[in-house]
Amino acid sequence: MTRRQPGTQGARTEGARPGEGTSDAGTARPELAAGPDETTWQHVLDLIERADEVALACHVSPDGDALGSMLAVGATLRAMGKHVVASFGDREFAVPRLLGFLPGQDLLVPPAAFPAEPDLMITFDSSTLDRLGLLAANASKAREVVVIDHHRSNAGFGTVSLIDPSAAATAVLAEELIYRLGGSLDRDIATGLYAGLATDTGSFRHSSTTPAVHEMAARLVATGLKTDEIARELWDRSPFGYLKVLAAALERAQLEEGLVWTYVSHADRAAYGLPYDEVEGMIDVVRRADEAEVAVVLKQDDLGAWQVSTRSKGAVDVGAICTALGGGGHHNAAGYTSHEDVEQTMARFRELLRMG
Ligand code: AMP
Ligand code: MN
Ligand code: MN
Repeated sequence: MTRRQPGTQGARTEGARPGEGTSDAGTARPELAAGPDETTWQHVLDLIERADEVALACHVSPDGDALGSMLAVGATLRAMGKHVVASFGDREFAVPRLLGFLPGQDLLVPPAAFPAEPDLMITFDSSTLDRLGLLAANASKAREVVVIDHHRSNAGFGTVSLIDPSAAATAVLAEELIYRLGGSLDRDIATGLYAGLATDTGSFRHSSTTPAVHEMAARLVATGLKTDEIARELWDRSPFGYLKVLAAALERAQLEEGLVWTYVSHADRAAYGLPYDEVEGMIDVVRRADEAEVAVVLKQDDLGAWQVSTRSKGAVDVGAICTALGGGGHHNAAGYTSHEDVEQTMARFRELLRMG
C-alpha cells in the first residue's frame, strides 16, 4: 500500500504539493510557485465524475512523461469504470520503441479512432494546441479540455488548466490527480509515473530534482518497480545502426562561440533503417561538450522537417529562444520545428542566441 493516508506522515497539507507535506525533520522548504488551486482541482474532479467517457491525449512524438503520465491516469480512470481512450496525434501512429515497456497500452487508439468531438478530453505534457498534432482538431471541438502540464510557456489552451511550472514533470500532477480521484499506485501505474519523473529530471540529475521528487520516486519504487530495467529500456538500449548514425553526426559536430551543434538527416537514418525516435536522445551526447554553454541537434523527421533539440547549462534561456521560433520548452531544455534547411535553421537560431 503506497497511497499516502491523510493524517500520516507525508500526508498532503492543504495546498501542498505531493511530498511537500509536513515533515518531522523540520528542514526549511523552498517556497514553490503555487500549483493549481483547490477550486480548479474540484472542477476537474467534477468533470470526470460526470463523464462516462474520457479521451486522453499527449503531445506528438511522446516521451516518457507524456505517454507515462497519460497511461497512468488512464488506468486509474478505467479502474473507476470510465470508458477511456488514449492517443497522440502523430501522422504515423506508433509507440516509440523505448517506451514499449510501458504498461496499459491497450488503452491506445490511433488518432483516426479518437472521438471527433469528445465531451471530456484531458491533455498531458502538451504546452500548446499545436503539440497535439492531428488531435488538435479534436481538442478544438471538445466540450471540455483539461490541460495537465508543467511547461512555463503553457498559456492554457483548454477550458481548465492544471498547470504547474514548478513541477519537475507532468507525472507529478498526474500522481496528484490519481490520489484526488481516490486511486492508488499499483506497479503498472507507478511505472508510467516513474518513466515521466525519471525522463524529465534527466534520471534525477537536473536542477528540478528536489526532495519532493525523490519522495515521489520513493512512493513509486515502493510498488516493486524494477528501476534498473526501466533505466535500461529508457536510456541504455539502441539498435546497432544508432552507433553508426551517432558516429556520423558527431563527426560533423561543430563548436562555435559557446555553441556545439550537429544534425542527423533522414538519409543518415535511412542508411541503417533507423526510425526517428531512435535519435531523439542524441542531444544528451552532444551537450557533453564542456566548451559549449548551448547544444543543438537538428533531427530530420520522416516528413523532411527538422525537429530541433536545444539544451542550456543555465546561462541561456533556450526555452525563450525556442518559443520565439514557434516551439517551446523549459529554460534549459527546449525545442521547435523548422521547415528551412540546416544552414538557415542554424542562422536563425544563432541570431536569437546572440541577441539573448
Ligand atoms: P526534446 O529536445 O525533444 O527533448 O524537447 C525538450 C523540450 O522542448 C521538451 O520539454 C519539449 O516539450 C519541448 N519541445 C520540443 N520540441 C518542441 C516543439 N516542436 N514545440 C514545442 N515544444 C517542443
Ligand atoms: Mn514531453
Ligand atoms: Mn514533461
